[in-house]
Amino acid sequence: VPPLYGRAALVTGGSRGIGAAVAVRLAEAGADVAVTYREGAEAAGRVAKEVESYGRRALAVRADAADPQAVAAAVDHVAAAFGRLDVLVNNAGMGLIAPLDQVLTADVERMLAVNVHAPFAASRAAARHLGVGGRIVTIGSCLADRVAFPGATLYALSKTAMVGMTKGLARELGPLGVTANVVHPGPIDTDMNPADGPGAEFQRGLTVMGRYGTPDDVAATVVHLAGPGGRYITGAAIAVDGGLAV
Ligand code: NDP
Repeated sequence: VPPLYGRAALVTGGSRGIGAAVAVRLAEAGADVAVTYREGAEAAGRVAKEVESYGRRALAVRADAADPQAVAAAVDHVAAAFGRLDVLVNNAGMGLIAPLDQVLTADVERMLAVNVHAPFAASRAAARHLGVGGRIVTIGSCLADRVAFPGATLYALSKTAMVGMTKGLARELGPLGVTANVVHPGPIDTDMNPADGPGAEFQRGLTVMGRYGTPDDVAATVVHLAGPGGRYITGAAIAVDGGLAV
C-alpha cells in the first residue's frame, strides 16, 4: 500500500513549478490531491490529469493568494469535496528582487498578502480539518537563512515569517497530532527562477554543489514530511538548497 493511500492533500499554487511536482509526487505516494492556481487553469488541469493517472482523485480550484479569504474558502471546499484533509502544502508564492527605493507600498502589501497572509489563512482553515497524522508543509526560501545578494529585503522578510509561523503552528497543533514544517529551497529551475536566466550563473556559484535543483528535489522532501517518515519532525526548517546556506 502506498504511504499516503487514503489521504487527501491540497497544494497551493500547484499548476507549475515546485507546486506541480509536489502534487504529482503526493499522488504517486497514494494521496488524492487538489491544487489551487491563479490564472493557469489549463496547466492546473494538466496536473490534475497527471494526479488521476495514478488512480487518485484530483481537483483544480482557482484561488488567488492575494485574497487570503479566497484561499481559506478553497481549503474548506477541498476538505468538503474529498470528505477529509490530511496534508496542506503552502507553496504559492511570488518573488520580487528590487532595490529598497524601488519597492512600492503596493508591492509590500501584495507580497505580505500572497507570501504571508495566505499561508496563515490556509493553515488556520486547514487546522479545522486536520486530524491525528495531519501535516502542514510550507515552502519558504534559502533566503530565510542567508541573504546573499542585495534587493531581496522584502522577499526575505516574507519567507522568514514562515519560520515563525511554522514554529507557532507546531506548538499549537502538536497536541492534536498535526506537524508543521518549512522547506527552504535554493535555486530551483522553474518559471520563477529559470536555470538559464540572467542571474543563474551567480546563483549556481552560491551553492556548494554548483548547480540548480529540480522541482522533484523539493517534492521528495515534502512527500517525506507528509508521509510516515515525517511523524516525529515538527517545527523544523529543512533546506533543499544544494548547500547555499552553508
Ligand atoms: P513558479 O512561478 O514557477 O510557479 C508558481 C505557482 O504558484 C504557479 O502554479 C502559480 O499559478 C502559483 N501562483 C503564483 N502566484 C499565485 C497567486 N497569487 N495565487 C495562487 N497561485 C499563485 O514558482 P516556483 O515553483 O519557483 O515557486 C514555488 C514556491 O517556491 C514559491 O513560494 C517560491 O517563493 C518558492 N521558492 C522558489 C525558489 C526557486 O528558485 N524557484 C527558491 C526558493 C523558494 P499560475 O500558474 O496560476 O500563475
